[in-house]
Amino acid sequence: MRVRFWGTRGSIATPGPDTIHFGGNTSCVQVTTDSGALLILDCGTGAHRLAAHLMAQGKKPITANILLGHTHWDHIQGFPFFSPAFIKGNSVAIHGPEGSRGSLHDVLAGQMEFTYFPIELGQLPAAITYHDLTEGIHTINGVRVVAQYLNHPAMTLGYRIEADGVAVVYLVDHEPFSDELWRAVAEPGHIESILHEGDRRHAKFMADADLVIHDAQYTPEEYPSKKTWGHSTYDYAVQIGAAAGVRRLALTHHDPSHNDHFVADIEQKARTLALQLGTGLDVFCAYEGCELVLEPRSAFKPFIATDPFQASVAQRRFHILVVDDQPDMLALIVRALEDDQYIVSKATSGPEALRMIEGYMPDLLVLDYKMVGMDGLAVMKSLRAKPEAQGLPVLMLTAMTDEPSTRAGFEAGVLDYVTKPFSIPQLTSRVRACLARTQLP
Ligand SMILES: [Zn+2]
Ligand SMILES: [Zn+2]
Repeated sequence: MRVRFWGTRGSIATPGPDTIHFGGNTSCVQVTTDSGALLILDCGTGAHRLAAHLMAQGKKPITANILLGHTHWDHIQGFPFFSPAFIKGNSVAIHGPEGSRGSLHDVLAGQMEFTYFPIELGQLPAAITYHDLTEGIHTINGVRVVAQYLNHPAMTLGYRIEADGVAVVYLVDHEPFSDELWRAVAEPGHIESILHEGDRRHAKFMADADLVIHDAQYTPEEYPSKKTWGHSTYDYAVQIGAAAGVRRLALTHHDPSHNDHFVADIEQKARTLALQLGTGLDVFCAYEGCELVLEPRSAFKPFIATDPFQASVAQRRFHILVVDDQPDMLALIVRALEDDQYIVSKATSGPEALRMIEGYMPDLLVLDYKMVGMDGLAVMKSLRAKPEAQGLPVLMLTAMTDEPSTRAGFEAGVLDYVTKPFSIPQLTSRVRACLARTQLP
């Protein structure tokens, strides 16, 4: 398998003399399998030069499979300049997460309306197909692709591509689920020692991969002022990659304010950290034009999904009950979920929520942790004592970011634990991820 980086910059294209080495184009990575399947991870401005490269190869027709992690601009802006789509006879299959506002087709058509671009999406001569994905195992052009949600203020999928006896995992636009990666009492460096279930799941998803391409937009010093923006630091990526037994780690989505000198410094620090951890993890900062050839490994094992997942969340109107004793917060959450077309009920206390659940079982409970009287943990205890509510998924919302509270939440059986402050798109993405992982009756 061959992997080539065409765009390594995050947020906005940053060409110029200061970014000449690591590159100024936004996210785009080409994966070519030994049998010739072409998978393109994200379609940022890097896709323009990739397209020119494909055309210059002269292969006809071109069959391209584009896997979009999400549809923020820096991941789709290159699509209108992806020249193979302008040639009749070529095929372009576009895959991306279900659950943005509108289908994948509508979102891509939006950036090509005449106001923004002279040619509309429907006018492109190639055969273009659209595939809205949720979590789970997919086959794309004969290649096994596993998708899993990332933590980002938009529905965002990470992809694990397995072919030719290797695994490449693409985890771009992702933020740690928790401030603390490790439990204080456990030995760091092991997947079992990870505090938040979301980070543990993230680690398992990349486990044993030959190459992980991971978001590392910020330094640990910058991160506190960029919290909830949906990006990682190099130390998070290195620590989690080392714990997951990853062989090679490519840090990417470089911040537009970081010049080559700065990114080289990040690379040096990431290497020092990887060396200290002693797992043999080879880490580097991805640069435009970087090409890797991954040789097959006899010990390669395919990823096994352990959780249930829904083929589609959009097909059904889910009922969500929100419980919060703060009227402003309650109103904010209810409005955001109603905007996402859910049927939403609300309760202002634990006892009220439990009474409502007796009358009608929701598909998901969004539960505040700290409430006067009966708190979220007490609600969980009562719920789990009711046989009919055993399987009710619960997303806990909380200002309690400390380790004992996080552990108490998961030990009480919550599916996700979202800490304040959070942004509305981050919350609605986490809600949708919970619903996608729910076993429906
Ligand atoms: Zn991005
Ligand atoms: Zn993004």
